[in-house]
Amino acid sequence: MSDPMRIRLDRTMCDGFGICAKHAPEYFSLDDWGYASLIGDGTVRDSDRPAVVRALLDCPVHAIIDMGGQPPSRARPQAVPDEAPEPHPSTEDNEAISEFVR
Ligand code: SF4
Repeated sequence: MSDPMRIRLDRTMCDGFGICAKHAPEYFSLDDWGYASLIGDGTVRDSDRPAVVRALLDCPVHAIIDMGGQPPSRARPQAVPDEAPEPHPSTEDNEAISEFVR
């Protein structure tokens, strides 16, 4: 048997469209301005998974995050891929810019 789905809601991203509460009202409540709050601890019953996944996929700002099967306290942040550092401008390659005169 697989771990239950766990979700998190990033309220800083929520734009108040209300779609999540329409799809999964047992998991999302809306305040007077339409901004969502998560009901419960984010654990999704298997029978509710399709509705919650629909809410997750339809959220226009991707504020609903699938935490996988791990409880939030054990969930690891997603690895950030190493980014190549920005190239430092070198004076030899940018002589035209460095010699720009008004
Ligand atoms: S669908 Fe997304 S943006 Fe809309 S209320 Fe829910 S969490 Fe907020």
